[in-house]
Amino acid sequence: MITETEALTPTTSAATDDVIVLDDLHRSYGLGERTVTAVDGVDLTVRRGEIVALLGPNGAGKTTTLDMLLGLTDPSSGSVRVFGQKAAQAAASGRIAAVLQTGGLLSDLTVRETVEVIASLHGRAALSRVPDVLARADLTQLSRRRISKCSGGEQQRVKFALALVADPDILVLDEPTAGMDVTARRHFWDVMRADADAGRTIVFATHYLEEAEQFARRTVVMHRGKIVADAPTASLRASLGARLLAATLPATGADALMATLGATEGVTELRVDAERVSLRAADSDAVASILLNAGAHDLEIAAPTLETAFTALTED
Ligand code: ATP
Repeated sequence: MITETEALTPTTSAATDDVIVLDDLHRSYGLGERTVTAVDGVDLTVRRGEIVALLGPNGAGKTTTLDMLLGLTDPSSGSVRVFGQKAAQAAASGRIAAVLQTGGLLSDLTVRETVEVIASLHGRAALSRVPDVLARADLTQLSRRRISKCSGGEQQRVKFALALVADPDILVLDEPTAGMDVTARRHFWDVMRADADAGRTIVFATHYLEEAEQFARRTVVMHRGKIVADAPTASLRASLGARLLAATLPATGADALMATLGATEGVTELRVDAERVSLRAADSDAVASILLNAGAHDLEIAAPTLETAFTALTED
């Protein structure tokens, strides 16, 4: 039944879908001249079921932001709300869980024992999930192996299993696939995508731009503690990543063509190598037509990449 109040406030359901709200978040370390501002005014709202990639160069403030989201670090100012609660409360109730870069595993326990110990902290329902969690982290075959004998990538999968065991509504991942091979990485993301489709919200920091391109519908770019872009991954790539064009120069008129290209607005990275001219162009159709009309041939046009956009956003 829709009450009168609900009928008058159509934004209500959208508002309750906002599972993470970061408001003017700041975090500094040290005092006086030695102060480091790790996070400098971050506003971010994440809705239920979103997969959000957090990108940024080393030291951009990604880990500090995620630590505040998890209640592991207090903000210097600003606020963190997770399901309307303080971050630490949401973490304690298991509604938000993480796979972090840091944090050790006990080397003498087996994989299964490790997952069972953490599951036991979350109650009987979590313990009954252990076989499923081991399977989803692709650890069933390794369940009796001691942590000390597991490779780096396998230990990363154990951390993933530990995050899944609480069955959290929000999963926070800080470089989750570091050290995993290609197959493990693909398996990991297949599981994540299925989880997001089922309503789990996923926020992950990564240095692998292709992971953001392939798995995140939304990308947030941080630089020097601030968010410098927040957009659907595809539009971010398209808006800032100019297309790459390459063609073989014509036998005659190559110098004139190069001069025309050099004077064309929006053309960058113009270079020639063994009769092949290559460049980036904001308007690829116009430049393709200049090339072909001048007799250039074997034209190739490559889609813009997230890497170009990332470089443009984070270069000083
Ligand atoms: P990376 O990609 O290298 O993991 P990041 O984007 O996660 O980097 P943070 O780890 O959040 O960046 O660090 C942001 C800045 O804050 C860096 O300059 C870092 O040196 C500094 N910093 C982080 N933690 C501390 C701390 N405990 N004490 C002092 N400075 C810190």
